[in-house]
Amino acid sequence: MTLPVSDYPALWLRDNCSCADCVAPGTEQKLHGITDLAPDTRIARVEEDADAVVVVFAPDDHRSRFTHAWLAAHRLDGALADDRSEDAKQLWQAADLAGAIPTGSWSAFHQDPVERAAGLEALQRQGFLLLRGVPVTDRAVLTVAESFGFVRRTNYGEVFEVRVEDQPTNLAFSSLPITPHTDNPYRDPVPTIQLLHCLVNAADGGDSGLVDGFAAAALLRAADPAAFDLLARTPVTFRYADAATELSATRPLIGVDPVGRIREIRFNNRSMRPIALPADQIDAFYAAYRRFAEILYSAEAQLTFRLEPGDCVVFDNTRVLHARTGFRAGGPRHLQGCYADLDGAYSELAVLRRGSIETNGAAR
Ligand SMILES: [Zn+2]
Repeated sequence: MTLPVSDYPALWLRDNCSCADCVAPGTEQKLHGITDLAPDTRIARVEEDADAVVVVFAPDDHRSRFTHAWLAAHRLDGALADDRSEDAKQLWQAADLAGAIPTGSWSAFHQDPVERAAGLEALQRQGFLLLRGVPVTDRAVLTVAESFGFVRRTNYGEVFEVRVEDQPTNLAFSSLPITPHTDNPYRDPVPTIQLLHCLVNAADGGDSGLVDGFAAAALLRAADPAAFDLLARTPVTFRYADAATELSATRPLIGVDPVGRIREIRFNNRSMRPIALPADQIDAFYAAYRRFAEILYSAEAQLTFRLEPGDCVVFDNTRVLHARTGFRAGGPRHLQGCYADLDGAYSELAVLRRGSIETNGAAR
């Protein structure tokens, strides 16, 4: 099948020439910018063979070759691929994952590229991954993060501890239940991956919960589009301060991309500062915020499971909210966590897929 080159505007074609004068050889890096191309660029002549279309442009007389395969892969049909947006996700409610929690063994994930790709694909599609059999040792969570990306160091250090403290500065260190939330919404950029590794869990209670924030936002949009729009349009300031730190970031609870797709959730009642809106819009904001919270906090939304020593949950902190049921302070529970970022994990996944394609090609 061939595509008429006239489906592709001349300037777009000229800008995407991949000849050695236009792209640095061995890279995908363009050597020209928009101001290097004539605004009246047009197609002077087209020659076609079995594999490709050769276009000669005016006024610069440049000659470009586009394969039919490349043109087909870059059809101008308005589809906007973004592996961070809701379109690239499999949205879920707790019941959808009953008995089907994406789970892998740490040793297989660590050693086998096929297992690692499957795990990272779960992180991308479902928003999380549970790894079992991680060594129950101090800072092992860093080894997990480094197996697919880069640790994000913060004011809490490389590793943060989640356990009971006598004088907690943060509710995470108390034995109170914690409602579903995303972490560190007061940072910009926010840490996009969180890892939690269980070292000890002898507590009575203290189970973990995960909620798909994209699914909850999609439910809100279906039930109450005006509430969804209000949350997507209202900037909210989140803040964290202690003796050495003062962090704040201002973003909406539901972040949408330029075409309106859900792309980022920030939800954390503990660190929300007073909403700054005209007084006559405050009631509507609170009604929308309440409605979203009710969906997020519902039993249908929350996947609950118990982390055992050696379990490490890895999740997309821009999408999946996490929660903890309350536990008795007497029962020891100790998790170690760290942050990492989705871009590194998705890069690892893309490179692993590239490897498998080359392997398959060689096998044929
Ligand atoms: Zn060129």
